[in-house]
Amino acid sequence: MSRFLNERFQPLVAYTPGEQPRDMRYIKLNTNESPYPPAPQVVAAMTAEQVENLRLYSDPTAKALKEKIAARYGVAPESVFVSNGSDEVLNFAFMAFGGKGAAFPDISYGFYEVFGDLYGIPYEKIPLKADFSIDFRDYCGLGKLVVIANPNAPTGMTIPVCEVEAIVKSNPDSVVLIDEAYVDFGGETCLPLTAKYDNLLVTRTFSKSRCLAGGRLGYAFASPALIADLEKIKYSTNPYNINRLTLLLGEVTMDAEDYYADMCANIIRTREWTAKTLEAMGFTVLPSRANFLFARTPAMDGGELYTQLKQRGILVRHFSNPRVCPFNRITIGTPEQMETLIAAIRDILGGAL
Ligand code: PMP
Repeated sequence: MSRFLNERFQPLVAYTPGEQPRDMRYIKLNTNESPYPPAPQVVAAMTAEQVENLRLYSDPTAKALKEKIAARYGVAPESVFVSNGSDEVLNFAFMAFGGKGAAFPDISYGFYEVFGDLYGIPYEKIPLKADFSIDFRDYCGLGKLVVIANPNAPTGMTIPVCEVEAIVKSNPDSVVLIDEAYVDFGGETCLPLTAKYDNLLVTRTFSKSRCLAGGRLGYAFASPALIADLEKIKYSTNPYNINRLTLLLGEVTMDAEDYYADMCANIIRTREWTAKTLEAMGFTVLPSRANFLFARTPAMDGGELYTQLKQRGILVRHFSNPRVCPFNRITIGTPEQMETLIAAIRDILGGAL
């Protein structure tokens, strides 16, 4: 730290992204990326001409992409926001709507508390129940920014839409943000509620189900007034927040929905196989509707299993928070990758199984 950093930021503990090793020798099951490439037409869209066009700024209104997203989901373009990854819309939402404080589960996406700290927002971390589910009553009538990932990360567990509606209804004067980064892997969306409630913000990403994590593209749905607030923040920070190439790839992605539906179906199938196989090996596996599993074995500490898998060239994600340190979060890869993982776990646990 230099002596120049604003005092306000000196104690800030930044978000720690999952490891991104450069050598690519690992089977990477640690950051919930897709094991599948973008659709062929997305790959083909990246021409030399498009690269030459990088001399021009991108469209700050992202008109074409917004229209495609709006048409796909049956909403007006004014109800759509697009961002540089969904991390950016989360960032903007904390900045814009965190004035009365915030609340989110104690076990959830680690960036929420970083944004809280960044903006000096007092926040409450509400404990998940013992079975790692969310008690919706804990979030009713709080009168502050409520942030819930649905499915939650790293548990993969969901909260029913009727319970989200109860939370939204009971907090009419503050924003409820539902982070649907993983909804396409079997979750239930709250999107229809955005037509009914002006305080609901639903965020999504192209990083998981649309195989575009490196493109950095996120989107969100809400009432036009909430979207206008997010636009105000965007135009006050970085109007060209999405680069030209990513805008283009996003548009082509929206024309390839069948491909992505197939990839999601593959991942769901592989997830169910992996969960069953781990359970048969004595693991506890939380009921996931995401592209990852959160699992623990009574035979070994989560950190130790993580380390031994890494030595065998397989990366999973381990969190040191005492409540979840027996667990590892395992991204669903291809069937072959998951077979390799299972073989490695059998090898590691050996006689303990
Ligand atoms: N929300 C949740 C719950 C996530 O797990 C992640 C990715 N790790 C994000 C949002 C952000 O994803 P991105 O910025 O790639 O859209």
